[in-house]
Amino acid sequence: MAEHDIIDMMMHHGVKPTANRIMICGALDKAGRPLSMGELETALGSVDKSVISRTMALFRERHLVHTIHGGGDEMCYELCHSHADGEDEDTHIHFWCRNCGKTFCLENIPIPVVSLPAGYEEESSNYMVTGLCPDCRKKCN
Ligand SMILES: [Zn+2]
Ligand SMILES: [Zn+2]
Repeated sequence: MAEHDIIDMMMHHGVKPTANRIMICGALDKAGRPLSMGELETALGSVDKSVISRTMALFRERHLVHTIHGGGDEMCYELCHSHADGEDEDTHIHFWCRNCGKTFCLENIPIPVVSLPAGYEEESSNYMVTGLCPDCRKKCN
């Protein structure tokens, strides 16, 4: 995304676009996949750790990012591409690579429909597949 698209997206979510926030949002966009706090820190070498965590808390509150649990028990942050206000509607399947520890978004494959037994009401679901990513598979073969 171009910087003005990032600013538009932040405004849309009611986040004031400061230089640091634009940089942090840009790093998530550039990665194109969910990043853990550690990966964010690496990507944003010049930004203070406490600034990153405060910014993530704000982004979450405004639904600019949502969090997913990576396969490695780490919380990952990803940009919310939902156009709906408020709720996180762009649920999709995630893939966690056990070799490199990266989490990927698999946006174009259908989400399995789970029929719950009577009496249960679904509020959220989390689809995480683990295994080897294409790069690691190549290296392992
Ligand atoms: Zn991998
Ligand atoms: Zn995702």
